[in-house]
Amino acid sequence: MKILLFGKNGQVGWELQRSLAPLGELVALDHDSKEFCGNFADLDGIAETVRAVAPDVIVNAAAHTAVDKAESEPDLARTINALAPAVLAREAARLNAWLVHYSTDYVFDGSGDRPWVETDPPGPLSVYGVTKLAGEQLIRQSGCRHLIFRTSWVYGARGGNFAKTMLRLAQERDSLKVIDDQIGAPTGADLLADVTAHVIRTARQHPEVAGLYHLVAGGETSWHGYASFVLDFARRAGVPLKAAIGAIEPVPTSAFPTAACRPHNSRMNTEKLQNTFDLYLPHWQAGVERMLSEVLESGK
Ligand code: NDP
Repeated sequence: MKILLFGKNGQVGWELQRSLAPLGELVALDHDSKEFCGNFADLDGIAETVRAVAPDVIVNAAAHTAVDKAESEPDLARTINALAPAVLAREAARLNAWLVHYSTDYVFDGSGDRPWVETDPPGPLSVYGVTKLAGEQLIRQSGCRHLIFRTSWVYGARGGNFAKTMLRLAQERDSLKVIDDQIGAPTGADLLADVTAHVIRTARQHPEVAGLYHLVAGGETSWHGYASFVLDFARRAGVPLKAAIGAIEPVPTSAFPTAACRPHNSRMNTEKLQNTFDLYLPHWQAGVERMLSEVLESGK
């Protein structure tokens, strides 16, 4: 099997380089790759790449993920999040290849408190959400064999992430304010990558599993709950923190005005994925603990 991966240096792309490697020959690109064009702003270039590589599976981990910035550059966000995936879908259909793509809880309006299922009507609140939804729709309309995974609150051990920011702030400050009215599940890039590899193997044998799936870690929390968990873990591990126990003040989303609106309810129902692929999605705390252990051990 030949796999073409776009966005190899992002949080998810980095982990996919590891998890996809044992499945077959992997051609992994980022936006400034030299041998083949991996730049999603160059739609003809990425079409040529797909034709030249002729993969069995295309995995798209590239995206315009700067949610606030997207509000002021909607054309670029649309090109990267919708038009480029549509080109990949068109080329995948020509080759009869699979396209694996990632989408987001931000396609929903965040109302209510029920976990969203795949058939719920979307209602994005931001340019990012609108363009990611358009990407999904264009892939589905293309007729290519596809797998779209909607996920949320992604973190990787490499580079910056919310948990590392909370650790740093708690070492610098006596108190912190963290949003407590957005609910979701922190989801590890490693989990996404491992599930992707498993699903690709299944899909190659059972093409009828093609479609849209919600894929997040188990359980739910707020950003405040997430931050509290991180600092409790750090304290237990002996990390000296300036912020005392209970010094994280829960605040509403309105306390931190941002360019883009974010959904309050990012709960995602993952039963379809778990039942179709016979998978178990571990609780978010297990993945965050593992990431924190790695971060604290390496002093990153
Ligand atoms: P990252 O921002 O870590 O990675 C995105 C990658 O896309 C980066 O490597 C980035 O490169 C690359 N990229 C940006 N612009 C271009 C371009 N013009 N051409 C080619 N590549 C480009 O995102 P994640 O790994 O976290 O996200 C993976 C997927 O998951 C995306 O589809 C995202 O929408 C989705 N998702 C992410 C969530 C999150 O919390 N992060 C939540 C829900 C869904 P560079 O950094 O060099 O610009």
